[in-house]
Amino acid sequence: MPRFISTAIPYVNAQPHLGHALEYVQADAYARALRQAGEDVFFLTGTDDNALKNVLAAEKVGKGIAEYVAENAEHFVDLDRKLDVGYDDFIRTSSDPRHRPGVEKLWKATKSEDLYKKNYHGYYCVGCEEFKTEKDLVNSECPEHPGRALEEVAEENYFFRLSAYQDQLQRLVESDMLRIVPESRKNETIAFIKGGLEDFSVSRSALRAKGWGVPVPGDPDQYLYVWYDALANYITALDYANEGEKYQIYWAAADAVKVHMIGKGINRFHTLYWPAMLLSAGVPLPSTVFVHGYITSGGQKMSKTLGNVVDPASLIERYGSEAVRYFLLRHGSSTEDFDITDEKCREWYTAHLTNGLGNLVARVMKLAEEHLPHPIALTEADEVFDSAFLERIEAFRFNDALDFVFEKVGAADARMAEQKPYALIKSGDAVEREAARKEIEALVHELAAIATHLTPAMPRTAAAILSAVRKNEKPENLFPRL
Ligand SMILES: [Zn+2]
Repeated sequence: MPRFISTAIPYVNAQPHLGHALEYVQADAYARALRQAGEDVFFLTGTDDNALKNVLAAEKVGKGIAEYVAENAEHFVDLDRKLDVGYDDFIRTSSDPRHRPGVEKLWKATKSEDLYKKNYHGYYCVGCEEFKTEKDLVNSECPEHPGRALEEVAEENYFFRLSAYQDQLQRLVESDMLRIVPESRKNETIAFIKGGLEDFSVSRSALRAKGWGVPVPGDPDQYLYVWYDALANYITALDYANEGEKYQIYWAAADAVKVHMIGKGINRFHTLYWPAMLLSAGVPLPSTVFVHGYITSGGQKMSKTLGNVVDPASLIERYGSEAVRYFLLRHGSSTEDFDITDEKCREWYTAHLTNGLGNLVARVMKLAEEHLPHPIALTEADEVFDSAFLERIEAFRFNDALDFVFEKVGAADARMAEQKPYALIKSGDAVEREAARKEIEALVHELAAIATHLTPAMPRTAAAILSAVRKNEKPENLFPRL
């Protein structure tokens, strides 16, 4: 069945951080696993260019906004490239010709009674691109952006009647018609619904938007803001504007499975605002919203002040992209906050990758090269996912999926230690030598199965192992000592 997978689209007012890397790698591993299992996957990522904070950041450095967002979007493309994130499409909301007509169509398709103008007075967090109500604030500050002053805004805006969708959204979420993973995020959404849904602002004055973004169709004094603009990327990229082929296959079709992968800070927008907007416009809903946690360092939120920021680019430089993918996918849990420090990366690299996987591959393939007359013939069992593994992937339990792989590594190590084929192949009698050869063959099959299951998480490593198996050769050192 067709599978649509998306990441959130980040603002481009700063360099990508490790949280972006986590989301891209999770989405990529998920997409790769499903492709490998034979599914028809469309994996979308991109950048949110039209946000007001991009405009402000461009002003600050004295650049034109279009030039600024184009330059900064490259940092995200570059991170994807470095991490081997194999997306099918990358949408930039300011320059992609598919975007604006799609946004306009979504706006026009929205039930007229769900959009209304009202005078609004409120406090706006530019960091979140959102108006805040009293109950959102902690010590009169945005909890996501402490220390940053809220902007007092009084103007006439369009509002979306979210309140009209309260009961429908509750039913959708409770029944898993709109599935939210993990359960704790589902419960958070339900609690939020039960607290009462308030209509939200969906436009801002052209003046405040500084003329950047998409004007409200038929009312150019107002510009669409974040929700109708950014969230719409998920369907505009599929050519919703023309209800084109990709939109039909990956979004509108009854059997299409649509998964948004996001961070916990934007749960509400994806599990309440977005589905309500789609309901109003008569557009099919996403199937699943998967919510990951944040990465901390030394138990604390990363911040420049604390000096504990772990930068994805420097991590890749130090350990290589495959190891970084491994750290991000195997650490902690895929849905809760978890900690990354350089110390821990170093320890894991040496223990799991150099001494674990890398050493096993080198030892087994050296034996195979020396003692097997020709490469083993790969069988279906070597190349097909175990159902237990695929179940973990479908449940977004990437760390458990890697446990599956590394349990195999451990088992092969143990088998080697018990059977000692390396000794018997030299000193045994004819029967023992033949048994040792069989044992080496079995171990090479194990390597193939390990590589098969490792491909979604560590595609280059897996390809190197499979190539070694096919050639019956010891590969280059996979994880050189640090
Ligand atoms: Zn904020």
